[in-house]
Amino acid sequence: MKAKPQALAALPSARLSVSCILIEPMQIWFHCPRCDTALTGFFSDPRGQANVECQACGEEFDISPKANLIIV
Ligand SMILES: [Zn+2]
Repeated sequence: MKAKPQALAALPSARLSVSCILIEPMQIWFHCPRCDTALTGFFSDPRGQANVECQACGEEFDISPKANLIIV
């Protein structure tokens, strides 16, 4: 017997669910924690980056790996 049909038959009432959502972002930005300038130009998840320099005030800061992602 084939393995896949057997596994499905063993869970007749199992409801399928999606556990991964893929997003292709058009633009990612955050605000400088010192001067609040919106810093743009990121095209991947910037969480966890260290030593990011604000283009406006020159402040250097880190982005928490636990920073909230807000889909707008
Ligand atoms: Zn700044």
